[in-house]
Amino acid sequence: YPEIHFLADLVTYHARRAPRKLALVYGEQRYDYAALEVESARAANALLAEGVKPGDRVVFFGKNSADFFLALFGTARSGGCFVPLNWRLAASELVQVAADAAPVFAIIEEEFEPVWREVRAAAGITAGYCVIGDTRRLCVWSGGHTAVLPRLHLREDDAVIQLYTSGTTGVPKGVVHTHASFNHSRLSEHLERAFDWREGDMFLYALPNFHLLGVALSLQCLYNGVALCIQKQFHPQEFLIGIARSRPTLLVLTPTMIQLLIDHPDAAGTDFSSLKLLMYAGSPISLGLLKRALSIMPCQFMQFYGQTETSGPVSLLRPDEHNLEVEQTLKSCGRPLPLIRMRVVDEQGNDVPDGTPGELLICAPSASAGYWNRPEETDQRFKDGWYASGDVAYRDAEGLFYIYDRLKDLIVSGGENIYCAEVENVLSLHPAVASVAVIGVPDPRWGEAVKAVVVLHVDMTVSHDELLNFCRKNLAGYKVPKSIDFVDAFPLTGTGKVSKKDIRAPYWAGMQRSVA
Ligand code: ATP
Repeated sequence: YPEIHFLADLVTYHARRAPRKLALVYGEQRYDYAALEVESARAANALLAEGVKPGDRVVFFGKNSADFFLALFGTARSGGCFVPLNWRLAASELVQVAADAAPVFAIIEEEFEPVWREVRAAAGITAGYCVIGDTRRLCVWSGGHTAVLPRLHLREDDAVIQLYTSGTTGVPKGVVHTHASFNHSRLSEHLERAFDWREGDMFLYALPNFHLLGVALSLQCLYNGVALCIQKQFHPQEFLIGIARSRPTLLVLTPTMIQLLIDHPDAAGTDFSSLKLLMYAGSPISLGLLKRALSIMPCQFMQFYGQTETSGPVSLLRPDEHNLEVEQTLKSCGRPLPLIRMRVVDEQGNDVPDGTPGELLICAPSASAGYWNRPEETDQRFKDGWYASGDVAYRDAEGLFYIYDRLKDLIVSGGENIYCAEVENVLSLHPAVASVAVIGVPDPRWGEAVKAVVVLHVDMTVSHDELLNFCRKNLAGYKVPKSIDFVDAFPLTGTGKVSKKDIRAPYWAGMQRSVA
């Protein structure tokens, strides 16, 4: 695709070659590439009329819809930088993020207009906004404007999308991506081959539109001419109905979504036979969950590893590496994609031998230009072309990478490093355990002690002692949890990740973790 330099060029590319090719399906709304081209050009001209200038931030505050894509491509074409807000955030968090983004215009779904009015006032934002909804479509707001593409002098290193991190480890940070970084994340040949795109492929899309996973994978599909069947948000039952009705070939889910789907009572009666590939990423998947998913869903599985800062996947565990017989490989997030380098280093920044855990550094042409308004954090994390991921990982002799933990979740007990993922993987294999989160809690003797917090399968019981014995059989003594608590569900972050920060909070009330 040589003529794709800027984000919205991918729409023009398909609109010229196959204008009637289906791009978006959302309820009764259907857009082919020609319609996407026309409506995104109108949206761009409407934004320019609102005063948007190159580099200005345009906020989108709404759930998934076809309008989200018209707004995204429209903003990209106006020279603006698109900032989708996480609608799951509490109002106080939204104020922080909105004030940080300082938009010059906002596109607000009607459901969120009251919240936006509050946020806007509290954040001191004076920018104008338009309101959209399932019956107030974006094309009504932009309809009076010309569909002639605006002629602007854009540069490939202009900011085009700013995504806020999940805030799993702290306050969400605005990660700035340029036309060039998104182009690199899509252009990886290896990824193209691994996907095996085919005419007629359909992606059932319910990922959050404010998160990298949703943005990157939907753009990757559109780039390859794969139609998106959009659901407003992820709801397990609706999603199972969507699979039966739309017969998608492709799914992209987080481990939490996989768990909610396969644990849903309707999963047993759902016909999954249209699926060719299930891709998963976003957080570590426990061995127990992956094995259950592999036995229930009769399709190929592929795992990605990536971060908001990398604008897409940087490593991939291929379908042929998902072999139930080779348990060790199932714990890996795969090998780096072409053009991407990954290293594991110690605290001094020296490479460690294979098998030794350390911090994962990534060198990727798709990496972000840095954090918005955070020059110090940008300098700390992006150095000499390498991005410090904040993840503890190791590489094995075959070049496979394994993510152990976020550095900030690592437990140091009596001077020993304990990686939560190791303990979680063992406990997840116990038949009574639905999901598990391992955390460090304060301990007067050891500094921190290992605690497992467990959600059991419905109607199943198990004693502490049985679970502890199960751990003792499979883990070194110092890694075995000192205590186990049972809960009904875990607190989740806005992007649906298990929030260790929130699980830890009650145990650390009034105290400060040294690694926090
Ligand atoms: P914050 O930076 O605010 O704490 P976050 O790190 O959760 O938020 P994201 O960019 O949403 O921000 O998530 C990236 C992180 O998700 C990775 O650093 C890693 O810890 C985890 N992750 C993503 N994919 C995988 C995977 N395949 N296996 C294990 N962990 C993964």
